[in-house]
Amino acid sequence: MHLGHLHGALLNWKRLQDRYRCFFFIADWHALTSEYVHPDIIRESTYDIITDWISVGLDPEVSTFFVQSQIKEHAELFLIFSMFTPLAWLERNPTYKEQLAELRQKDVYTYGFLGYPVLQAADILMYKANGVPVGEDQAPHVELTREIARRFNHLYGKVFPVPDVLLTPTSKILGLDRRKMSKSYGNAIFLTDSDEEIDLKVSRMITDPQRARKSDPGDPAVCNVFSFHEIYSPPETVEDIRRDCPLAAIGCVECKRIMAASLKQGLEPIRARRRELESDMERVKAVVAEGNARSRAIARETMAQVREAVKI
Ligand code: SF4
Repeated sequence: MHLGHLHGALLNWKRLQDRYRCFFFIADWHALTSEYVHPDIIRESTYDIITDWISVGLDPEVSTFFVQSQIKEHAELFLIFSMFTPLAWLERNPTYKEQLAELRQKDVYTYGFLGYPVLQAADILMYKANGVPVGEDQAPHVELTREIARRFNHLYGKVFPVPDVLLTPTSKILGLDRRKMSKSYGNAIFLTDSDEEIDLKVSRMITDPQRARKSDPGDPAVCNVFSFHEIYSPPETVEDIRRDCPLAAIGCVECKRIMAASLKQGLEPIRARRRELESDMERVKAVVAEGNARSRAIARETMAQVREAVKI
């Protein structure tokens, strides 16, 4: 996972687990919709991602972590939902159209990829979720889940609550090249990066595009390096840069050096916890096994109600 995930989702999840009973899962069947040609990466990533979750402070004692493919009931609920979900609901989904355009290098004109939001509805409704934390771009998917819940309840009687969207505040953190941070763009700083990798990546970051020379005044408000400072540097450093950059009293090389130091210091507790977990992967596996068991028990209960409602 990278800093885009950390500030766009994980830290928000960490806050949510203090207020809600949370379920976090590895969507490995979903991953298969786009990675079906090279699926080995999916299994390899599972424990890696959960290790990141625990490292950033998601607490398996408080929340439940599970792996989607280990709870076969998700597939059954997906199948039942797919019987009454109109094709038009899926085809008009704006995220589907965007992803078709974005994933041009992969052939995702498949039945599974079109049906992705129906599986997502099964993932959410299986646990009778009241809220789903998503970014704005994912809100249409949750809307589809709400429609599926309403339609099921209308056809077979009320089984599911209609979940709300819990909008995740948008992170100001961008990738090294000022595009959205993404592994596939090659512009990401990962939670697992070494000090040397962080130094190198920060040195390559694009700053204020109008500032070509050190003697040009800069504008921190449009500079991605400054966004990192605001999160990771002490307030007095942030104020110094806010003052000095527009006066060309500090150069970008120096500014980046200070930011890289703050970033490494800020990430160190996460990286230390990660190193500790990496030396005890049995503990991570036990967390997943326990979460799978807890989730499976709930899923079985829900499916008993669903089968009763559908009379099948
Ligand atoms: Fe950005 Fe810092 Fe350069 Fe100003 S001095 S443009 S804040 S990197």
